[in-house]
Amino acid sequence: MRWVLWLGVCLLPNLAHGGIGAADLSRQVREMSIDAGECYRVRDLALPKDEARLFFTDGYLIFAKPIAGVRMSAVFTADVEGGDAEVLVLPPNRGERRSLASYTGAPNLDEHLVAAVLIFSDDTYAKLTEQIRLNPANKKSPEMGAIMAERWTPVVRNIAASFQTRLVWDVLLGEQQGHGFLAVSMSGRKLGNFDLYYDRSALEQIVIGKLNTRDNLLFFDVWTSFVAKSFRNREIEDDVTLSDFRIEATLKPDLTLSVVTRVKAKPGRLALPVIALDIARPMRVSAVLVDGRPAEVLQRESMRAELLRNVGNEMFLVTPPAPLEPGKEYELEFRHEGKVIFEAGNQVYYVGARSNWFPSVGRQFAKFDLTFRYPKDLDLVTPGELVEEHDEGDLRVTRRKTSVAIRFAGFNLGQYERIRLKRSGFTLEVCANRAIEPGLADDKRIQAAEPAPPGRPQREPEIVILPPELPGDPLARLQEIASEIASAMEFMAARFGPPALPNVTVAPVPGKFGQGFPGLIYLSTMSYLAPQNKAIRSLDAHGRLFFSDILQAHETAHQWWGNVVTSAGYHDEWLMEALADYSALLYLESKNGAQPVALALDSYKTNLLQTANGKTVESTGPIVLGKRLENSQAPTAYYNITYGKGSWIMHMLRRRMGDDRFLAMRKEYERKPLSTEEFRLAAARFLPPKSEDPQLEDFFDQWVYGTGIPELKLSYAVKGKAGALRLNGTVTQSGVDSDFSVLAPVEIQLGHGKTLTQWVRTADGPVTFSVPLAQAPAKVQLDPDSSVLRR
Ligand SMILES: [Zn+2]
Repeated sequence: MRWVLWLGVCLLPNLAHGGIGAADLSRQVREMSIDAGECYRVRDLALPKDEARLFFTDGYLIFAKPIAGVRMSAVFTADVEGGDAEVLVLPPNRGERRSLASYTGAPNLDEHLVAAVLIFSDDTYAKLTEQIRLNPANKKSPEMGAIMAERWTPVVRNIAASFQTRLVWDVLLGEQQGHGFLAVSMSGRKLGNFDLYYDRSALEQIVIGKLNTRDNLLFFDVWTSFVAKSFRNREIEDDVTLSDFRIEATLKPDLTLSVVTRVKAKPGRLALPVIALDIARPMRVSAVLVDGRPAEVLQRESMRAELLRNVGNEMFLVTPPAPLEPGKEYELEFRHEGKVIFEAGNQVYYVGARSNWFPSVGRQFAKFDLTFRYPKDLDLVTPGELVEEHDEGDLRVTRRKTSVAIRFAGFNLGQYERIRLKRSGFTLEVCANRAIEPGLADDKRIQAAEPAPPGRPQREPEIVILPPELPGDPLARLQEIASEIASAMEFMAARFGPPALPNVTVAPVPGKFGQGFPGLIYLSTMSYLAPQNKAIRSLDAHGRLFFSDILQAHETAHQWWGNVVTSAGYHDEWLMEALADYSALLYLESKNGAQPVALALDSYKTNLLQTANGKTVESTGPIVLGKRLENSQAPTAYYNITYGKGSWIMHMLRRRMGDDRFLAMRKEYERKPLSTEEFRLAAARFLPPKSEDPQLEDFFDQWVYGTGIPELKLSYAVKGKAGALRLNGTVTQSGVDSDFSVLAPVEIQLGHGKTLTQWVRTADGPVTFSVPLAQAPAKVQLDPDSSVLRR
C-alpha cells in the first residue's frame, strides 16, 4: 500500500484519448492554454467535495482548451463589482482542526477568494458546465474571455506542469471505476495563496496547504489532511504488485550507475493500460520492455505533486504495448542510469538514493537477486547471501540473493577494512573506510551535487566538517563497533526474535546520520572516530553518546522496527523510530546502567522545550502528524518530536507497564503493518491488572494525539496518630492548556525498603489525594523514576 500523501490507484471515467501516446499528452499538458471562447459570467456555482466546498458566488469562469478531448483546467476571478468566491472546509476531527488552526488561526477554513486556478481529471468540468447551463443568469462573455486567456494562460501552464505526469496517468488509465483529482490553487482575501487537493486515489483525499520557503528550502506546509467522508472504511490497494527483483548494476568510472532491473509485475483487480512507478530523481529510465516488447516511458519533474508526496522520488509512467490483464504475471525490464553516488574525497563515497535507486511501487516486500560490476579497487556491500564473486578485467562482479522478501535493497561502497563476526542466528560484517574524507571543500561539493529534496531539511545529512589538521583514524573503533553491534543484535534478537535478514553488513556513510535497511546498516563516519578526535571532543555529552553508542544501536534496532514490523502509514511512522530509539536505550541500559538513558531522555526533553516565537518545539503538533511536522514553521520539530518525544512515550509506557510486560508486548505485532491504534490496544493488553486508564485512551490522547509538557509540583502533610496516619497531598500542574491531564506517580517510602506508589491524575488547578498509612513515611517523592515527561 502506498502510504504517502499523494498517490494510489487513480482511475478516470470515460476519457477517450484517441490513442495519443504519453509523451504527446505530456507535451500538450505543458502547452495547455485558456480557451477565450469558453468564458462565462457566473453566479452561485457550487463545487462540493465531501468536507470541502467551493462556491463561485459572482465573477468570471473560463476553461482551458481540451487535450485529447478533455478540458483539464479552469480559472475563476472575482474581478467584478461585488465579486466573490468562498472555500469552506470542516476537518472531521480535533487533531486536524487543531492543525488547521495552528496555521490559519481557526479550526475550520472559511476564506473568501479573489481568484482560483483549478486543475482536474475528475468530474469537475461536468459539474460546473451543468450548473452554467441550468441557470440563465450565467452568460458567455467573449470580451472578458480574450483578456483572461492572455492573462491566465502562463499561470495555468505553470501549475498544470506540476501535475503533468499525474494528468497523463489519469488520461491513459481511462474508463475504469475510479476517479481523478481536483487541485485548486487559490488567492484568499486573508490567507494569501494556498492550495486545496481532492484526490480520490490518495489515502487522504482532502489536503489543504501552502508552499512556503524558509532558509532557501521549499516546504509544502500541510494545514490539514484527512480521509474524506465518502472514503472512510475503503481499502486502497496498489494497482500492481512487484516481486522477484533481478538487478544488474554497473558502476562506471565517473560514478554513474547503469542498471538493468528485471521484475515480475502482477496487476490487481483492474486491467492496466499504464503503470505508475517511483524512482529516485537522479535516475533516468531510458527503456522499458514488457514481456520483451518495448513500452513507452514518461518521466518528468513535477514539483507540486512531488512535494505533496514528500519523498525524494518521482513518479514515472510505463505504457505497455497492450493493457496488462488483471491477475496475470508479466516480466518488466527497465534500463536506467543516474548519478546516485558521490565521492567525499579519499575514496569515501556517499550513496544518495539509498532506497529507490531502482523502480518500485509503494513499499512492497520482495526478494532480490543483485549483481554489481564495479572497479576492482573498491569494496561494495549489499544485502543477501553471496552467490558468486569474480573478476572481469578491471571490474569485480559480486552477486547476492536475499533469502526472504525485504522492503528495500540498498548498497554501499568504499575502500574498506572489514571485520566478520558470527553469532548464533546471524552473521555480521562491519566495514570501515581506510581513509577519512577531507574537510569542508569537498563537503560543499557533495551538497551542491545533491541538494536536499524540498521540504526535507532535516532528513538529508549534514556533512561532517572534519578539521584537516587532525586527520583521525577511521579504523580506530572498527573492532569496538563490530563487537558492540554484535552484542546489540544479540540483545535485540533475544527480545524481538530473528532480524529481517540473517546476514547484516555495516558500512560507513559520510554525514551525521545513519540508516537501517534490511541486512545493511549505514553508519555515520563520525561513529568510527576515537573519542579523542576533535570532531567528537567538540560535541556535548549527549552528542558524544549519540555517535559512540546510540546511533549504531538505533540503526541495529531498525533490523526489526521498520523491516520486520512496518508502519501502517505516515501517521504511524513515529512508532518505528520511537521503538528503534528506545530499543537502543534499553540496550545501553543493560550494558552501562541507567545513566546513559537518563542523559539521552534529558537531552530529548531540552530539545523539545526549546522555544521559537514563544512556542516550544513540542507544541508544533502531535507526534502522529509525522512528516507534516517538518514544516516551515519549525523545521527541527519533526526530528525532535519523532525521536525525542517518541522515546519518551515508550519510556512512559514502560514505567506504566513494568519491564517484563513492556518487552512481552513485542509478540503482538509480527510482520504486519502496525498502526498507532493497534499499538495502543496491544499496550493496553499488557498493562498490569487493574491499572488506571485501562485502554490507555487518556494516555494516547495526551501524549500521542495531543501536545504539552507540564510542570508538576507536590506538597504534602502527614496527620493523625501512630497506627492511624494519613498522608494528604496536592499535585499542582502548570505550563499546559487547561484540558491537559496525566497520571503522575507519587512514591511513598515506608521504610524497610517498602514503597507504595499512588497514581494521581492531574488537572487544571491543584489535585488532592489522601493515603492511609500505618507508619510515618521515610520519604515522599513525585515521579522519582522519570515516569512522566515534565519540565
Ligand atoms: Zn531511525
